[in-house]
Amino acid sequence: MPRKDALQELRSILVRRRDALRSALAGDLSLLKELRSESPGDVIDAALDTAQDEISSQLAEVESRELAHIENALERMRSGHYGLCEVCTRKIPLARLDALPYATMCIDCQRDLERTGGSRQAEAAEESYSSDMEIDVS
Ligand SMILES: [Zn+2]
Repeated sequence: MPRKDALQELRSILVRRRDALRSALAGDLSLLKELRSESPGDVIDAALDTAQDEISSQLAEVESRELAHIENALERMRSGHYGLCEVCTRKIPLARLDALPYATMCIDCQRDLERTGGSRQAEAAEESYSSDMEIDVS
């Protein structure tokens, strides 16, 4: 698939997820539960299990943080910077964007940052997704 089409697809995934998160934060978990069936091992999964039909403050916090990442990614799509590393401006590989659609850095720059103890926010996003992968593997 051409990169342009792949980015289009990621955009629609992000938009759907953003809408689901927005409704969930407004108290309606139905959209989020719909998405859940399409993306097993999701970071929201565990939270949904504990929250059931009630939004716990913990879930709301996870959702708000992810929503901020998604809004940022969509903003970057509008400005044409999506998929480009914020640090070195190289293209972020599609495999990485598939795993972390709101990644703003390539893996090299991310690792550099982690070594030098940079952005905590970026690390938090990485953490939530790496735990997803562990679930997928098992
Ligand atoms: Zn980079």
